[in-house]
Amino acid sequence: MSGGARIRGSGQPDAGRPGHGTASAAPPDAGSGWILHVDLDQFIAAVEMLRRPELRGRPVVIGGDGDPTKRGVVATASYPARDRGVHSGMPLRTAARRCPEAVFLPVDRPADEAASAAVLAVLRRFPAVLEVLGWDEAFLAVRTGDPESIARDIQSRVRAATGLDCSVGIGTNKLQAKIATGFGKPAGIFRLTGANWHQVMADRPPDALWGIGRATARRLAGLGITTVADLARADPGLLAGVFGPATGPWLVARGRGIDPSPVSAEPHQPRSHSREVTFQRDIDDWAEVRARVREVARQVATDLAGERAMAGERAMAGEPTTTGERAVRVVVKVRYAPFLTRTHGVPLTEPSRDPDVIASAALDALDAGFDATAPVRLVGVRAEFGSGVPDQGRKLS
Ligand SMILES: [Mg+2]
Repeated sequence: MSGGARIRGSGQPDAGRPGHGTASAAPPDAGSGWILHVDLDQFIAAVEMLRRPELRGRPVVIGGDGDPTKRGVVATASYPARDRGVHSGMPLRTAARRCPEAVFLPVDRPADEAASAAVLAVLRRFPAVLEVLGWDEAFLAVRTGDPESIARDIQSRVRAATGLDCSVGIGTNKLQAKIATGFGKPAGIFRLTGANWHQVMADRPPDALWGIGRATARRLAGLGITTVADLARADPGLLAGVFGPATGPWLVARGRGIDPSPVSAEPHQPRSHSREVTFQRDIDDWAEVRARVREVARQVATDLAGERAMAGERAMAGEPTTTGERAVRVVVKVRYAPFLTRTHGVPLTEPSRDPDVIASAALDALDAGFDATAPVRLVGVRAEFGSGVPDQGRKLS
C-alpha cells in the first residue's frame, strides 16, 4: 500500500466494527456476498525462506543476480529490509547502503512460479468465484455469514500446502478488499466496509486508494484534494471537467469506497510483456545501445512465442488459459546515467510476435524518441497487447 502504515495484529473479527461511516451501506447480513482479497506476504523473499529457514526474520533483498556491488534493481525485500527503507525498484547498491547487513539473493523465477501455481491451486478449491490478479494475489467472491472464518481457512490451507503466509482483506467490493489486505499484513485479516471506510481511510492521501497513482494524486492536490475525505466530497462534475467524463466521477466513487466492478473468473490476461537489461558499465556507443535493444526485443518476441506454447499446454490440461498474444505496440525504455528514465513507443501496423517485426519497431522507437548522445545504463522493451493500454499493475522491470 502506498501512503499508509501497516496496521499490525488486526486479525480480530471486530476490525470492521461500525465507525464514523459516511457510506450508507450497512454491513451485509448473514449469508450475503463478500469479496476476499488474498495476497502472499513478501512473496519472492518468502519463497527463498522456505529453502533457507535461517533467513527468517532477517533483512533479505532479492534482485538482479544477487550481487549488490553490481548494477540491478530490487525485485522484493523482506519486511525487516523494508523497515530499513529498502523497496522494490530501488538500485541494489542503494539497498546495500541503506541495509548493509541484508542478505542479497538473485531472483529464482522457476521457484517463484511453482510456488505461485501451488497457491492458486489451493484457492481454486474454495467454493468461490476466483479472479487471479497477479502471481501472488487473487480475489474470491463468496457467500457467507462469516468471511473471517473463510479467510482463516484460506490462510491455514495455503500455509499447509506451501509453507507460505498470506494476508486476507475482506470487503463488500474489490476496492475495499484490496485495500484491506494492506492493513492485514503480515499474515493477518482485515475487514474494510462502508461501516469503517471513513474512520480508516479519511485522512490518507488519495493514492492510498487502489487504482490511483502518484501522478493523479499530484493533479488532485493541485485542486486542493489531498485526502480520501476531500476526494469523497468532491464534486464529480468538477472532476469530470478536469479528468474526463468517466474518470472524474470514477475518482470520487473511489474516494467513497464504491467499486461496482465484478469479480471475474475470466483468466488473467497480461496486457503486456517486457524485459530489460541493466549494463554493468554505462554504454555511450549508440551503435551498441541499438544492438542491445535489438537483442532484448528479439528475446521479448521469443517470450511471446513461449507463452503461446505454454497457453496451449494449459488448455490441454484443462487449466485456465491465456491466449498467445501478439504485440500491437512496442515501447522502448532507456535509463541514462545516473538514473533518468525515458520511454517511447510505436504502434505496429498489424499485431505481431515476429522477432524481426518487434525488433525493427523497437529500433524505430529508439531512433525516434531518444537522445543518442548520453551514456546509457539500462534498456528495456515492452510488447503491449490488445487494447494497447499498458498494464499498470506490472512495471517494465
Ligand atoms: Mg504480495
